[in-house]
Amino acid sequence: MRDGVFEAPGRINLIGEHTDYNDGFVLPIALPHVVRITAARRDDGVLRVASRQAQGVAELRLVDLAPGAVTGWVAYVAGVVWALREEGHPIGGFGLMVDGNVPLGAGLSSSAALEAATALAVTELSGVSLDRRTLARITQRAENDFVGMPCGIMDQSASLLARERHALLLDTRTMATEHIPFDLAPAGLALLVVDTKAPHRLVDGEYAARRRDCHRAAELLGVPALRDLDEPDQDLPDRLARRVRHVVAENARVLEVAELLRTDRIREIGPLLTDSHTSLRDDYEVTVPELDVAVDALVAAGALGARMTGGGFGGCVISLVEDTAVEACTRAVRAAFADKNFTTPDCWTATASAGARRADHVPAGVD
Ligand code: ADP
Ligand code: MG
Repeated sequence: MRDGVFEAPGRINLIGEHTDYNDGFVLPIALPHVVRITAARRDDGVLRVASRQAQGVAELRLVDLAPGAVTGWVAYVAGVVWALREEGHPIGGFGLMVDGNVPLGAGLSSSAALEAATALAVTELSGVSLDRRTLARITQRAENDFVGMPCGIMDQSASLLARERHALLLDTRTMATEHIPFDLAPAGLALLVVDTKAPHRLVDGEYAARRRDCHRAAELLGVPALRDLDEPDQDLPDRLARRVRHVVAENARVLEVAELLRTDRIREIGPLLTDSHTSLRDDYEVTVPELDVAVDALVAAGALGARMTGGGFGGCVISLVEDTAVEACTRAVRAAFADKNFTTPDCWTATASAGARRADHVPAGVD
């Protein structure tokens, strides 16, 4: 098979924020929004990449791929091909046309969707068979080492491993997964997403600083990772103590939410979502006024719970609401934003969707 179409979704993290680089737990769902790649093998050792969402066409010789050699959006694609080849997988030249509807830079993980779609396309069309966990690790390596973003493994795992109408409970230490039913409509509920449109501020530097804080705290406490703490330790300097308090409490909240979902007590997760936001605002310090205003407006308008999702410093808020309250909550957020002269937010409801997949018809027995 020389060509095909592959899709990988963006994601929303229900809970478990800034836990994935602390060996902790996360609970994302995949979105219906995808990055779609139309891929065709080439025999000339060249990677040619274009996107409907970005400028320029890149033509790169595979032998020239190295960290630092490619910048901008093309690095997410080239990095995946580089990482696969680094690990000895025989990936040759490709032409890749990218299209999609995951909002870029909104905290919905368009980057991991782009990486996952690339990984699936080039491995499948090269006859390289790798399980989804391995693809998640390799695409994370691409973003860490080639793009230069020190992200954890949640986003890539969500895009590659998630299932329709389920949330993905992932232990980022062991990569153990559990698909927990997450189907809100039959329960009369909805997941309202507010894309605050707040420009991402200081994201890369602040993200790296939080990682350093966590690493330092684990070192001082003599544990391999903050995941290994059951109780926050107050013997640390104030800032590190607050970082630790967030991570420890957040891990516990993920497990609590997972158990509530397993036992069909969905409404009861609401307060835990709001607690997560408070912790991210006060202890982890990764929110911005747009995120806080949205959460406050949603809760005041009757949402069962609300929190920022993704790395923070802009991006989206999610909120668990009765389906009859979606309109009132949307109006309340819009009014609060207008009052503050913030950019008008995008509001929509999300359903848990499928992970990355081949999207064209594959005729049987033809190659
Ligand atoms: P997020 O992953 O939350 O959307 P990131 O900053 O991590 O935000 O990744 C966004 C970047 O990913 C974009 O700036 C762009 O470089 C790249 N990207 C994502 N989707 C596409 C696409 N469809 N076409 C081109 N580049 C894309
Ligand atoms: Mg990203």
